[in-house]
Amino acid sequence: IDSIQLENITKKYNNSFAVQDLNLEIHGGELLILIGPSGSGKTTTLRMINQLIEPDEGRIFINNQDIMQFDSVKLRRNIGYVIQDIGLFPHMTIRNNIGLIPKLEGWSNNEIIDKVKTLLDFVSLPPEQFLYRYPNQLSGGQQQRVGLARALAMDPPLLLMDEPFGALDPILRRQLQDEFCRIKQELGRTIVFVTHDIEEAFKLGDRIAIMDGANLIQIGKPEDLIFNP
Ligand code: ADP
Ligand code: ADP
Repeated sequence: IDSIQLENITKKYNNSFAVQDLNLEIHGGELLILIGPSGSGKTTTLRMINQLIEPDEGRIFINNQDIMQFDSVKLRRNIGYVIQDIGLFPHMTIRNNIGLIPKLEGWSNNEIIDKVKTLLDFVSLPPEQFLYRYPNQLSGGQQQRVGLARALAMDPPLLLMDEPFGALDPILRRQLQDEFCRIKQELGRTIVFVTHDIEEAFKLGDRIAIMDGANLIQIGKPEDLIFNP
């Protein structure tokens, strides 16, 4: 991805702004944090980028192409989406949870199993232990790792992460943040990461965008931001 541009994006629910006249440029390869209080429009912004919802006004460009011109299913196959409540399929093994989309895309079983093993290694879950477990045999932190692995299955150039560590206890949360910090470089993707945790934002973000009341109020590198609590 070279760039993502949000131009004059507005989304209303019941006549009140969820996102108001948002202008935002996301640079290729960066990890951009979207931070702000609950209800400030962060999730709505992410969901407009992957076409789960359509803006009322404004346009979104990926590599200078209006995303309305893309087929939304194809677009989403190129975007990894990780949410707090990852929603693994309970009746499927970890192997099949991670391999589902590759399978639908026609990959062979060998290709799928190789990919799933690589991804499990990447998120520090030894494949020999985890491949054929079911989600309810995993802890919350382990499920979250599987959620990340599943989002990476199709090698998406763009990752959208919505409070991925939000449901974890503070110690596990810190551990996953540290790990994510390390793999971020290796991943080399464009990542938009929603959080309301300032510490997390400073730890992970290349740039931080602060939202409040449906508006973008500040954006910059961590060292350039001004806080007026
Ligand atoms: P954040 O992610 O920052 O917590 P959201 O983007 O989820 O904020 O929500 C922004 C605003 O839009 C909130 O006031 C929320 O109540 C409202 N909103 C979001 N989704 C819906 C929806 N589907 N129906 C009605 N209101 C919604
Ligand atoms: P597919 O699901 O595409 O047929 P496989 O042929 O690899 O994939 O496996 C068939 C099913 O058997 C899969 O759903 C998988 O979860 C399960 N399975 C394969 N190997 C093992 C194993 N060693 N232990 C437990 N379950 C396995």
